[in-house]
Amino acid sequence: MGMAAWVCFECRIAVRRDTQYRGQVPCPECGKHCVYLGYKIPVPPKSKPRLWQQLQVQLAQAKILANRQAALDNIRLCHVLEREIAKIERLPENPGRRSLLQQLRSRLLQL
Ligand SMILES: [Zn+2]
Repeated sequence: MGMAAWVCFECRIAVRRDTQYRGQVPCPECGKHCVYLGYKIPVPPKSKPRLWQQLQVQLAQAKILANRQAALDNIRLCHVLEREIAKIERLPENPGRRSLLQQLRSRLLQL
């Protein structure tokens, strides 16, 4: 198990915890929730506010991209399920058809 960093952008402080840690990490200085940074991205020195600002922008952009990708993946999965349902509906009745259709429709509703 490795260590990961959580950071407070206001105080420019990093707090390290085990990568398995799942709770909120309060900033030791201001008490606000720190932002998860992970273990790959280096923490800028406290004396370099511009690097901290760049890191914050970089994380915000990465989050936007990840949200967009998740939305696209969701739409793709919807289409896959809809096509699968349409395909099964065209097949003749058989014992597993009804429950399979129910499962697929249920998954579709959960998206
Ligand atoms: Zn803080």
